[in-house]
Amino acid sequence: MKVHSLTVGAFEENTWFLHDEAAGEVVMVDPGDEPRRLAAEVDRLGARLVAIWITHGHLDHIGGVAGLKARWPDVPVYAHPLDAPLWQHAPRVAAGYGLPFEAPPPPDHPLAEGDQLAFGGETFAVWHLPGHAPGHVGFLGASVAFTGDVLFAGSIGRTDLPLCDAADMERSLSRLLPLPDALVVHPGHGPSTTIGRERVTNPFLNGTARVRRG
Ligand SMILES: [Zn+2]
Ligand SMILES: [Zn+2]
Repeated sequence: MKVHSLTVGAFEENTWFLHDEAAGEVVMVDPGDEPRRLAAEVDRLGARLVAIWITHGHLDHIGGVAGLKARWPDVPVYAHPLDAPLWQHAPRVAAGYGLPFEAPPPPDHPLAEGDQLAFGGETFAVWHLPGHAPGHVGFLGASVAFTGDVLFAGSIGRTDLPLCDAADMERSLSRLLPLPDALVVHPGHGPSTTIGRERVTNPFLNGTARVRRG
């Protein structure tokens, strides 16, 4: 399985492509915007889009869903139900930013802590990691993890937006902290990193910065 990203939209969000070359299948994580460009990437790979996994319901992570569902109505969208309010409010939030936004249909499959998603010979455990968003999840494989807007290279996701919870964020980060050093972290924004690097250099993991409250 190969992993790569396209950075899309005004918020420079990373849409991740998991590509099983042998099976000719793709899973997309967080198609945040520019659905035509994302669909063209599936075509370029000569693969079939088999699922869309959503880390959380902020508009910059779901803005491409409607366009992809218009082209491939049967592709199931997986997301945590606690982010339903974010899905519902996303059009209004986008309007507040003056951004065009196509409201996505509701997710097809609810995700929960402990779910297992198999793809490309790897199994991804679904971890509920609230704090940045109430229904935020991570997809944790043996060698790679998709952490959305919880953990970034050198930083963490905001906790001052509506429905954020700083105490939840601290608990979510403390769950990621003991993961193996070599685990590659593919975040929702910015470059990829590893748990080992973040444990040493990330100010929110090495104790030099505190999660912002409110
Ligand atoms: Zn977010
Ligand atoms: Zn984001």
